[in-house]
Amino acid sequence: MTEDNLIEGNLTPGNLTPGNLTPGNSALGNSALDHLIQGNPKAAKPKHIILTSHQHRGKVIPIHWGAENPSDRGPIIGSIRNLQHRNVIGTHAGSYGVYRALAVASGDLDPTHKADLTNTSPPVQIGPYPSWSDPNKIVSLDPFGAFAGSVFTGYESEGYDILPTIAITKAHINLPELKDAIAQGRITVDGKLLKSDGNLLVTKAAIDPVWYLPGIAKRLHIEETDLRRVLFQQTGGMFPELVTRPDLHVFLPPIGGSTIYIIGDEKAIVDPDKPLAVRVHDECNGSDVFGSDICTCRPYLVHGIEVCIQTAQEGGAGVIVYCRKEGRALGEVTKFLVYNARKRQEGGDRADAYFARTECVAGVQDMRFQQLMPDMLHWLGITRIDRLVSMSNMKYNAITHAGIEVVQRIAIPPELVPADAQVEIEAKKASGYYSEDEVLAAEELAQIKGRDY
Ligand SMILES: [Zn+2]
Repeated sequence: MTEDNLIEGNLTPGNLTPGNLTPGNSALGNSALDHLIQGNPKAAKPKHIILTSHQHRGKVIPIHWGAENPSDRGPIIGSIRNLQHRNVIGTHAGSYGVYRALAVASGDLDPTHKADLTNTSPPVQIGPYPSWSDPNKIVSLDPFGAFAGSVFTGYESEGYDILPTIAITKAHINLPELKDAIAQGRITVDGKLLKSDGNLLVTKAAIDPVWYLPGIAKRLHIEETDLRRVLFQQTGGMFPELVTRPDLHVFLPPIGGSTIYIIGDEKAIVDPDKPLAVRVHDECNGSDVFGSDICTCRPYLVHGIEVCIQTAQEGGAGVIVYCRKEGRALGEVTKFLVYNARKRQEGGDRADAYFARTECVAGVQDMRFQQLMPDMLHWLGITRIDRLVSMSNMKYNAITHAGIEVVQRIAIPPELVPADAQVEIEAKKASGYYSEDEVLAAEELAQIKGRDY
């Protein structure tokens, strides 16, 4: 079956009727699929698989993206407890939705379980801000996502299952580098925000992706129909409604979410008289968690936290946006393949071939689509960043094109660049990343070498 076939030929409502996908008709055979669908006595499962493109039995609650108040906007209903209620494509929890399927399939989770949201509401209120009702400013998250448990209670009482896509909580974090920064006098213990034991008080928000497809298409300068078709194709046909339900405009994609760490008073974020520091950091598990020295990720992240603390202690606030976009959103398998290719190429790991090796393996240098990232800054109501702790030209361009002013850009201090990370940092500077240093010429770039193991 070709791709075109899959879309235009076979996957029409007429060809794939729910009746065709009964366990008995499946290529899996009776026993295997029957077990998956019916075999679990704990779960009340339907006897037939109903394709998502056939679940529609009438009008769904409309979503008016960009509406000023949540009741006009309408709830996001991605729960599969009642298929008739769903007004989005996809399910909650991003990529973790697949684990939920395993839990149901193995009998550990009752698929009819309804979340008890007692005492889960945010301890602080973020927003609403004018940016929340601008459909051009936020297209990749639900600005009302943290209110879902409280503002749609009317729907709840009618049996709708409405889940938050944003959760906010408070925490203490403790990083050994902050203790060093205290010992060296770069930051000071104030006993409130930063404790003598190095504990830092933060407010953090977890954000699941909620994509308004017309807005995503507009942001990427493509047609919505093209976006929907390619999303369907490139997920192996995972979400048929992308091509069969043009009435559904919101997609909960199976991708990683983001976490925002707020340091200092969250009200200072939107106060024009108070300074704001921001670092937008894309996940790098090897460095962030395990301390690999091939890149600058963890030292730069911790430097960002340090600048956030200094700014908060001046009466302002700091924000770290942490995005699950491992390996420039190419994933860690691709990343490790690139590491090997870099170190084994002729002449060894060199700054002048840094981006070329990624492109050889992945076909592109970067897949992070920073154009969507400023949505999180708009969710926080940010209109000006006094200190942007980032050298990335892509992030800077995305933020300023989104209408957010950047006063100062802060590069990673040279003494924080790890031993084997010179290749990365010099290659990035030469490619246009922000730096106060001179950019190296091509011959000099070729001399910047990394380890060969
Ligand atoms: Zn890294």
